[in-house]
Amino acid sequence: MIVSENVPLSTHTTLRVGGTARFFIECESKEDIQNALAFALEHGLLWSVLGEGSNVLAGDDVYNGVVIAIRIPGIAFVDAGEEVQITAGAGVAWDALVLEAARCGLWGLENLAGIPGTVGAAPVQNIGAYGAEVKDTLKEVSALDTRTGQIRILVRDECAFGYRDSIFKFSARFVILSVTFCLQKAAQPSIEYKDLKEALAQGTDLSTPASIGNAVRTIRGRKFPDLSLVGTAGSFFKNPTISEEAYASLKEKFSDMPGFPNARGVKIPTAFILDHMLGLRGYTEGNISLFENQPLVLVARNGATQKEIDTFANNIAARVHDATGIFIEREVRNFPT
Ligand SMILES: Cc1cc2nc3c(=O)[nH]c(=O)nc-3n(C[C@H](O)[C@H](O)[C@H](O)COP(=O)(O)OP(=O)(O)OC[C@H]3O[C@@H](n4cnc5c(N)ncnc54)[C@H](O)[C@@H]3O)c2cc1C
Repeated sequence: MIVSENVPLSTHTTLRVGGTARFFIECESKEDIQNALAFALEHGLLWSVLGEGSNVLAGDDVYNGVVIAIRIPGIAFVDAGEEVQITAGAGVAWDALVLEAARCGLWGLENLAGIPGTVGAAPVQNIGAYGAEVKDTLKEVSALDTRTGQIRILVRDECAFGYRDSIFKFSARFVILSVTFCLQKAAQPSIEYKDLKEALAQGTDLSTPASIGNAVRTIRGRKFPDLSLVGTAGSFFKNPTISEEAYASLKEKFSDMPGFPNARGVKIPTAFILDHMLGLRGYTEGNISLFENQPLVLVARNGATQKEIDTFANNIAARVHDATGIFIEREVRNFPT
C-alpha cells in the first residue's frame, strides 16, 4: 500500500475541487485495505473510501482523516454454459471492464460504456445509462464488512438496488473488493433508447457489444464535457419521481412535460425542467455552469470551490422547486461520506 500525506483532493476528483486529505492510502488488495483501516484506528482518525472521484463533491476544508483509495486490479472469467461470469477487482476502471467484455463478445455491459469511475463504485449508486443499470447483470459483490472484519458476499437481491441507489449508500459499512457479473454469449442487444435508435437509423452498426459500446461512447462524447478541460461529475441531480396526481397537475400548466411511469409514480427528466421550463441551459454563476449540451451536467472551471458549487446547486434546486413544487436530489455525493 502507498501512504501519502497532505494530498489535495482536487487532484483525485473529477470536479477538481477539495482541500487536502491528511493521509491518502492507495490499496491494491484486501490486506492493504485492512492495514489502512488499522492505520486509521491506531491514529484515531476517520476514514473514507474513494475510487476515481467521479461522483463526489469534496469539501474545501482539510480532511483530517484517511482516504482509502481503491486500486484492486484483475479481471477473471468463468465459463458457465450459456453465460460467462466475469469478476473484476474494485479498482479496475469501469470502461476497461466494458471493453474487455465486448472484446470477448459478451453481452450485457455495452450500454454502460464510457462511464468514468471504478468497478467497485459502480454498485454504490447502481450506475445507469442508455436503458441499462449495473444491477441488470450484477451477480454478486464481495465486500469487506468493516463492522465484523469479515468478507461478505452480497448477492444481487441483498444489495437493495434502486434508481442510483443501493445498500452501499446507506452506510460506509462495506468496502467493495470485487464485483461479479453474469454476461451472455447469445446476442441480447438493447437498443430501444432514443439516441441509439437514431444512431441505428443513421446507419451506425449496432450488431455487436463492441459496436454498441462504441456508439454509446460517441453519443456520450456529445453530451458530456471533456474531463481534461473542465471539472464535472456528470449528472449532478437525479430525475425525481412524483405522484400521478402531481404529474397531472403539472401537465395542466406545462402540457409538453414528459413523464415516465414507474412503480412509485412518474419519473420526470430534470433536464427538461432546467432547459425547457427554466431556460437554464448554459446558466453560469462565477466558476460554475450548467453544461450547454446537457443542463443536468454541472461544470466547474479552474478556481471553483465546494462552497461555490453548493451555493449554485442549492440555487438551481430552489428555482426548480419554485417553478414546479418538486424537490430535486443530488446524484453527486459529498466527500468524505
Ligand atoms: C463525465 C461523467 C459522466 C458520468 N456518467 C454517468 C452515467 O452515465 N451514469 C451513472 O450512473 N454515473 C455517471 N457518472 C458518475 C460516476 O462516473 C459513477 O458514479 C461512478 O461509478 C463513480 O466511480 P468512482 O470510482 O469515480 O467513484 P467515487 O466518485 O470515487 O466514489 C463514489 C462513491 O462510492 C464510494 N465508493 C467508491 N469505491 C468504493 C468501494 N470500492 N467500496 C465502497 N464504496 C466505494 C465512495 O465512498 C463514494 O461515496 C458520470 C461521471 C462523470 C464525471
